[in-house]
Amino acid sequence: MLRSLLLWCAQNPWLSTHVPKWGFVRRAVRRFMPGEDLDAALTAAGDFKAQSIGSLLTRLGENVKNLSEAQEVVEHYESLFARVAKDGLDAEISVKPTQLGLDIDPAAAYSNFERLARAASKAKSFLWIDMEGSAYTEPTLDLYRRLRADHPRTGIALQAYLHRTVHDVVKLLPVKPAIRLVKGAYAESSSIAFTAKKDVDANYLALCALMLPQAKQGKLRLVLATHDVDLIARIARFAHALGMEHGQLEVAMLYGIRADQQARLAREGFIVKDLISYGDAWYAWYLRRLAERPANVLFVARQLF
Ligand SMILES: Cc1cc2nc3c(=O)[nH]c(=O)nc-3n(C[C@H](O)[C@H](O)[C@H](O)COP(=O)(O)OP(=O)(O)OC[C@H]3O[C@@H](n4cnc5c(N)ncnc54)[C@H](O)[C@@H]3O)c2cc1C
Repeated sequence: MLRSLLLWCAQNPWLSTHVPKWGFVRRAVRRFMPGEDLDAALTAAGDFKAQSIGSLLTRLGENVKNLSEAQEVVEHYESLFARVAKDGLDAEISVKPTQLGLDIDPAAAYSNFERLARAASKAKSFLWIDMEGSAYTEPTLDLYRRLRADHPRTGIALQAYLHRTVHDVVKLLPVKPAIRLVKGAYAESSSIAFTAKKDVDANYLALCALMLPQAKQGKLRLVLATHDVDLIARIARFAHALGMEHGQLEVAMLYGIRADQQARLAREGFIVKDLISYGDAWYAWYLRRLAERPANVLFVARQLF
């Protein structure tokens, strides 16, 4: 119930205008982001690099209201790709389709993604497309299929909680995709999504069993984007049975969550990336982080006192 309530709050317009001004919430958010400005994110990326952990950078924001806002986001990320190349950072960039205008004009969103794919290629970096709520799954997959045809340094997040994901993986395999597999962070109905954790975990594992042989043959880049270290260990055992080494497995986690496990996995030879968020549009994103682990609400309450 608390998860559903938090995900409802994430969509509520009144709360999204007022809550970000409350000091105790701003203090609590710092646990999940090094700061609101890009410099704080880049400093964190530098610190991760020293621990052999790469970074995924994302400026928070979604559902922009007009295409000029999307233009500004594109220009921001173009200059960020240039900076990543100039400073030699081990960093990739991850962007939400509705931040580039998907729900205003899909054709404009596509050309925005193309500009960023070109910038990623020039910087020898990588562009990831986040996956949002199920209303966007089909247009996001269409966008990625088109983009991948000309831009190999691009990838897409897929959600293990959706029943359709197995079919989406099978349809994507011929384009040699890069897939970041997540469990899924939105409120979805049981008619289209697994709602029990054990079912989501079982589907995550089954999807990996499908994709790992392709990853081993170099036909797919697979990133395990989860903090579930038991699940990662089971997937690693399966990968080893296929003859894959730790160094062929990529794991990604969010900034501020299970930092000790990120460091351990990097020491054990896994390729590890930390997704660092920055920017001031953190409200809906932060509520989704609370919903993933309702115990985090206690942390917010502690900031109040
Ligand atoms: C790199 C990355 C990219 C992502 N991109 C997307 C995306 O594009 N689209 C999308 O829908 N979702 C995305 N997500 C979110 C994802 O869908 C899950 O909601 C989130 O990762 C929590 O699920 P889990 O896999 O960690 O497993 P869970 O079973 O939820 O968690 C496993 C354990 O991790 C710890 N943990 C998990 N979440 C938290 C938290 N918020 N605070 C504290 N501890 C926690 C807890 O100890 C928990 O027991 C992304 C996640 C990551 C790591």
